[in-house]
Amino acid sequence: MSARPISKIVIVGGGTAGWMAAAPLAMKLEKRCEIVLIESPEIGTIGVGEATLPTIRLYNGFLGLDGADFIKKTQATFKLGIEFKDWGHIGNRFFHGFGDFGPRIENRSPHMHWLRLKKADPGMPSYENWSVATVMARNGKFVPPVGGPPSASNAFSYGFQFDAGLYAAYLRDYAMKRGVTRIEALITEVELRPDNGFIAAVKLGDGRRIDGDLFIDCSGFRGLLIEGALKAGYDDWSAQLPCNSALAVPCAKVPKLTPYTTSTARSAGWLWRIPLQHRTGNGHVYCNGFTTDEEAARVLLDGLDGRALDEPRQLRFTTGRRRKSWVKNCVAIGLSAGFIEPLESTSISLIENMIGFLIEGFPDTDCSPVLADEFNRRAATRYESTRDFIVMHYKLTNRTDSEFWRYCANMHIPDSLNHQIELFRESGQVAIIDKEGFNEPSHISMLLGLGVIPKKHDPFADHVDLDLVRSHFKRLGEAIAGTVRAMPDHTDYIAAAVAADPVPGLAI
Ligand SMILES: Cc1cc2nc3c(=O)[nH]c(=O)nc-3n(C[C@H](O)[C@H](O)[C@H](O)COP(=O)(O)OP(=O)(O)OC[C@H]3O[C@@H](n4cnc5c(N)ncnc54)[C@H](O)[C@@H]3O)c2cc1C
Repeated sequence: MSARPISKIVIVGGGTAGWMAAAPLAMKLEKRCEIVLIESPEIGTIGVGEATLPTIRLYNGFLGLDGADFIKKTQATFKLGIEFKDWGHIGNRFFHGFGDFGPRIENRSPHMHWLRLKKADPGMPSYENWSVATVMARNGKFVPPVGGPPSASNAFSYGFQFDAGLYAAYLRDYAMKRGVTRIEALITEVELRPDNGFIAAVKLGDGRRIDGDLFIDCSGFRGLLIEGALKAGYDDWSAQLPCNSALAVPCAKVPKLTPYTTSTARSAGWLWRIPLQHRTGNGHVYCNGFTTDEEAARVLLDGLDGRALDEPRQLRFTTGRRRKSWVKNCVAIGLSAGFIEPLESTSISLIENMIGFLIEGFPDTDCSPVLADEFNRRAATRYESTRDFIVMHYKLTNRTDSEFWRYCANMHIPDSLNHQIELFRESGQVAIIDKEGFNEPSHISMLLGLGVIPKKHDPFADHVDLDLVRSHFKRLGEAIAGTVRAMPDHTDYIAAAVAADPVPGLAI
């Protein structure tokens, strides 16, 4: 029997996930398939999600977006990583930079040699001094990496901080130019086929019926199709990720745009600070079992470094994952598939992954359960490894100043994460369970930053002459410092290369 190609895709939801799904599908399918996107102005979008990982550049590159145009239209700034303040213990300050810590020495990871040197030379500076991204961020510098052999000019990566609403609108224009039809209406009913339980159509409040072969559920936390109609089930991870609330507020920008996101731990959660060209995004992610919404709002507003431009907006969520993101002829992408709180800005990256998995295993109208199983397997790995990475930030705290942090220090964690932490603590090795997720340098940044100093290092590192290792780190450190010194200031680079049009009423 020959396969019948998908001839109509219905995307439910016009938030970041909906338009991020529509754009590459429209590009890839080149009008061979009708694509309809339905969004409801009554419901609206979540409207947050401003910091990204470097993978966003692969996604944008896949679409062939003009980098400078995208930055200007989304009021974007560059993101070299995240600065963590008061995580681990009050007064702690460290950086998770994008990129690595320099070349391997005798085929051994540089951190193993640094661990050895640290024992020989206790005054050895922090390992983050060998992360180009971190040194750039600490000095407020930015310029894109240059091509050529590995050097301090290209051993770093970057993502963007942008206005999520403008990004969705940008992709909407892209997708609609490539034939996607947009319908603004409220979906009131989902019709299933009686023979196989596949989704046949969605019904709109105005009486229209929109049928399709493949449905992509980007309806946000409510999971209108995947949960509402298909009852996929949800794994609740709030025992390990207790934050369940957020308050978000924009404030006036400050003159210097930091090329990084800041996360400051507070007594029942943490504050984010994301500088954009036209304003600064701020939020407080917290657990309402350990503080009140009023107190959380006070902590947020007290921490602003500019005039609040709005009232704080309240959001609630349950961290976890849909048990299956692909069921029958429905694939959930975005918040409908799950949510891991925004501490490492992973949601948009997970959206990119899920779209990639769908395109790589694109079905025909049968929607073979094997394709769905493979998608669900890959989705489970990505979500669970991301969960573990985020749980690590909380579990490794030494803070005892609040009930929230005492809970985090004592909570039970997944065996997979326990193994990663204990392996590093014992030997300095990093177990990478998901090759598509956070890499070794990211794990090292967080583990060292949170105060886990391995008891031992790789015994093969001892075979290298100690003076050679000393001079390697000295030379590399000098090269990084010199290269970064010559780089332009991040704010100046934006002004010269990719300045967005000013937004009236949003002056400093
Ligand atoms: C506090 C917080 C901070 C975050 N920060 C980050 C971050 O820094 N970085 C990051 O990567 N991610 C972040 N995220 C996640 C990010 O916001 C989301 O992943 C992203 O916005 C995608 O949302 P979505 O499109 O899945 O859902 P939504 O934005 O909720 O969109 C849902 C869409 O479905 C439509 N819809 C729903 N029901 C119906 C219906 N019945 N009929 C018709 N249409 C319907 C709505 O109209 C809307 O268009 C954050 C999330 C939260 C909660």
